[in-house]
Formats: sequence, structure tokens, C-alpha cells
Amino acid sequence: MTAARAHIAAMAAYQLADLTPPEGRKLISLCQNESLRPPSPLALEAAAEAMAASMLYPDPDWMALREAIGELHHLPPDRILCGNGSLELIGALARAYAGPDRAVLAPVHAYPFFRTAAQLAEARFDTAAEQDLTVDVSNLLASVRPDTGIVFVANPGNPTGTRIARSELNRLRNGLRDDILLVIDEAYGEFDDLPGETSFDLLTAGNTVVLRTFSKAYGMAGFRVGWGLFPQSASAEIRKVLNPNNISLVAQAAAAAAIRDQDYMKETCRLVEKIRTQATRDLRGAGFRVPDSFTNFVLIDLENETRARQADQALRRQGIFLRGQAGAGLPHMLRMTIGPEADVGVSVSELIKWKGEQR
Ligand SMILES: *Cc1c(COP(=O)(O)O)cnc(C)c1O
Repeated sequence: MTAARAHIAAMAAYQLADLTPPEGRKLISLCQNESLRPPSPLALEAAAEAMAASMLYPDPDWMALREAIGELHHLPPDRILCGNGSLELIGALARAYAGPDRAVLAPVHAYPFFRTAAQLAEARFDTAAEQDLTVDVSNLLASVRPDTGIVFVANPGNPTGTRIARSELNRLRNGLRDDILLVIDEAYGEFDDLPGETSFDLLTAGNTVVLRTFSKAYGMAGFRVGWGLFPQSASAEIRKVLNPNNISLVAQAAAAAAIRDQDYMKETCRLVEKIRTQATRDLRGAGFRVPDSFTNFVLIDLENETRARQADQALRRQGIFLRGQAGAGLPHMLRMTIGPEADVGVSVSELIKWKGEQR
């Protein structure tokens, strides 16, 4: 019999959402932070057009896409790398910069895929305590060890939804040794973009990577396109690790077109903010603790693990799927994606109803 290598065999399967509604119920999926509306019509048009050229391999250098991204964010295209979703870039970073002799460090409630990427690279995964569900830079710096190779943070965080102040990010970079790669995952950055504030200039340090994706604010999770700004040296190394034809021709065309429709993306962010504000207000009004979120989801405190499981099951019986957060060290919390207004409304009222029945 063949056996997988020990570090693979020891890993748990990545927890994807289970999405089978009870018989006869419509599925309301608020568990994967998918967008509440389809991609820009311009993106869909470009995808349909590109389809006819699909006998060709995609551009391995993503030239049109990199130029579109570079133009929008005022970045040099040759420092941009694109991935099959930002997950591919996270995996490649771990493989290139972590390993048995180089550990990965992240905040304790960080995005669970950081741990998966470390495990695949056979690297130790260290965590640093957070403060009020927010990344604590002092704790991160105190948790650095001589063999730390990468520090991963998501900003805003998933599943916390909270953000790291710009000055704190600077303090993190300045406090880390030069040889440690800092990876800032901004999967939700578009929801939180403040005029004149960007993490991209941290790159002048030469050892920081900033990642973004088309999966969230652009509503293109199914296309699988992520990108990042890399220091020159890292970009050459990561290029070796990526699949040379990693993003389909159709997805590249769609993403480049989506970048050129900023109005549509910003409108999505405004819509999400409106629904999120209402949901947060209603949930808090009913006595739930809900941290301020800067993303397309909210995190809801159910006080303990049993209650979180019971509430989750009660909603599932109605066909409503939220996401338990045991994997991020928050077993007493549920994460709710800000989906279409009606779905979020039903889900919030069902939660409030469930709470009322508990006394
Ligand atoms: C959704 C998400 C990703 C994954 O994005 P893809 O581009 O779809 O691979 C990465 N990081 C965080 C924090 C996310 O929430």
C-alpha cells in the first residue's frame, strides 16, 4: 500500500462549507463571503468574448491584467504577480519562504488557510494573542522566534472583520527583523479603502507582500483571480513556484475588465455597508455582541460553543447557512456573510427569534 507523506497524512481536510439545505427549503448561503451580486456586466462581456479564443493557452505573464491593476493602483506591473485566487499566492509564499527550518507566525484568530499553507510547507505554525478580536502588534512582535520566516496578517481580518491601524502596520514592519517576510492579506481591502491610505508603500521596505483578490468586492470568486504586490526579489522566486498557466484566459479577461469598472465595484461596497450597518444594529439591539466590521461579513458572539452550535443548527433547519468559527479559535461565534438584503434580513430575524426562545 502507498501512504502519503507524514505531514500530509497528519493534516485535517480543509473545512469547506457544507451546503445541503433541508428537503424543500431554499438554500440561503451566508457562509463563504461570496458577493451579493454578480460580477460587473463589463467583466461578463469580456469573459464571453475571450471564450472564443480558449483553444489558446492563457498569457502566462498576465500582461493585460497586470497593466490594468497597475494603472488603477499606481503600481509598477513588473512587481505584480497574479494567482489562481489569492490562496495560490499564500500557498506559494509558504512553500518558498517557510519550511521545517522556518516557522510561520500569525495572529491567533487569523484566516485558517495560513495554517494550512504552513502545514503543507512542513513549517511550524506559531500564533500571537489578539486584543478585542483585533491584531495586537506588540504580541506579534513578542512572539517572533529566531526561526520565524513569515508573518501573515489579514487586514481587515477574516473572521474577525476588524482592522489594523495604519500606524500599527508600520510599527509591525519596523519591529520585524529584515529577513522576515511580512504578508498583508487584503482580501477585503476594497471594503475598507480610505482615500490616501494604502499598504502598498510598505513595500519600499523590500520584504513586505500585499495580497488582494477579485473574489470579494469584485464578486468573482468563481473565476479564481488574486494578485499581489511583491518585492523584486520575492517576485522572481514566487514565479518559480506558481503553476505557469495558473489563471484561465477567460478569467484574466474578466478580471481586467472588472478593474476598469470601479463604479460597479464601489457600488457593491456601498450596498454591503448599508446592509451590514442595518444587520449590526438589529443584532446588537437584540443583545448580541457584534464587533465593528470593515468587510462583507459580520461576526456574531453566541457566548459559548454549545449555544453557537444550537443557533447554527436552528438556522440550518430553515435552510440558512452561517459559518462556525472553531477553526479560527472562536467556537462561540458565527460568521454571517452580508448577502442580499432579504437573505440577511431573514437570517437576522431567525437568530433573534432563536435567542428569544432560549430563556
Ligand atoms: C476569501 C479570502 C481569501 C481567498 O481568496 P481567493 O482569492 O478566492 O483565493 C484569502 N484571504 C482571506 C483573508 C479571505 O477571506
